[in-house]
Amino acid sequence: MNDLIIVGSGVAGMSASIYASRYKLEHLIFGDTPGGQGMLAGTVENYPGYVSLPGPELMQKFVEQVKHYGVEVNQANIKGLAKIEAGFEVKTDKEKYQAKALILAMGANFRRLNIPGEEKLIGKGVSYCSTCDAPFFKDKIVAVIGGGDAAITGALHLASFASKVLIIHRRDEYRAEPAWVERLRQNKKIEEILSNEVTEIKGQEKVEVIVLKNPYQGSQEIKVDGVFVEIGQVPSSVLAGQLGVEVDEQGYIKVSPGMATNLPGVFAAGDLAAIEGGIHFRQFITAASDGARAAASVYQHLQGKAPTPSWGK
Ligand code: NAP
Repeated sequence: MNDLIIVGSGVAGMSASIYASRYKLEHLIFGDTPGGQGMLAGTVENYPGYVSLPGPELMQKFVEQVKHYGVEVNQANIKGLAKIEAGFEVKTDKEKYQAKALILAMGANFRRLNIPGEEKLIGKGVSYCSTCDAPFFKDKIVAVIGGGDAAITGALHLASFASKVLIIHRRDEYRAEPAWVERLRQNKKIEEILSNEVTEIKGQEKVEVIVLKNPYQGSQEIKVDGVFVEIGQVPSSVLAGQLGVEVDEQGYIKVSPGMATNLPGVFAAGDLAAIEGGIHFRQFITAASDGARAAASVYQHLQGKAPTPSWGK
């Protein structure tokens, strides 16, 4: 039986694997894509040690470091997690694997606007990943919806391809780092539409028009070729819920400062985890820190030293 199975191969999962290797824990790591959502990050400029580098390059360094310790990321679709007598079972569509402890690091999925036209036009101009799809919009007009780091960095990335980028945010103040906002405002190709919302996306075969809640320059409709929805994420905690792991009202897994869930032997890390009393700060570096602490806690747990998780008491 393995000491540990890590579910998720983004920053948190990779960091957990590196630390698990250092603790000599026999472990497996599963994930859809080695690098997870980090592969979709545009430019990362706040990870210590690197002034600026593309997300996929940083993730490749994580993958190499995991491999350096002889661990390969298993690309598999996880179908279920279950408690067994000696620990836990992870079911993929092909096999079952057992371990004494689990680290859940499945991250989060893109949040949708849930407005008319959005679903129908996904892949036909509606995108949730500016890093992936920006090159398809060379010399086109695109709208980016959102006011966080993803929206601002996405708009900046798009501006190097598109002829014009409209950033549409529902408030008059951004949530993103001020350093990114400053960069946005210096970019002549980017136009801001604040305190406004997109209520519909229209188009037959592809995106043609967005409809705004309030008129902008005298009109509620704007012609665009693409719509990038960058409005945050929804935690991927369905499997955890099935296992009996406690989640908060938004679906994030509740963890102690040692990343322990309410189930002894189950730990969570990264974008999926909400630390008791902590702030919601979801960055590469916080995910890396979570993964490291989760692996350290697993090590202690397997030695019978981990503190009893206090959630629900
Ligand atoms: P986020 O920080 O949660 O921001 C989501 C934005 O979308 C907010 O501005 C929010 O508006 C808006 N929003 C949410 N639901 C909406 C809706 N239904 N309609 C319209 N607007 C909506 O999410 P994120 O930007 O995806 O970032 C997620 C995490 O990754 C953050 O921790 C972020 O710092 C990190 N990140 C970092 C970088 C970087 O530094 N390179 C890049 C990307 C992401 P309100 O502000 O009004 O709530």
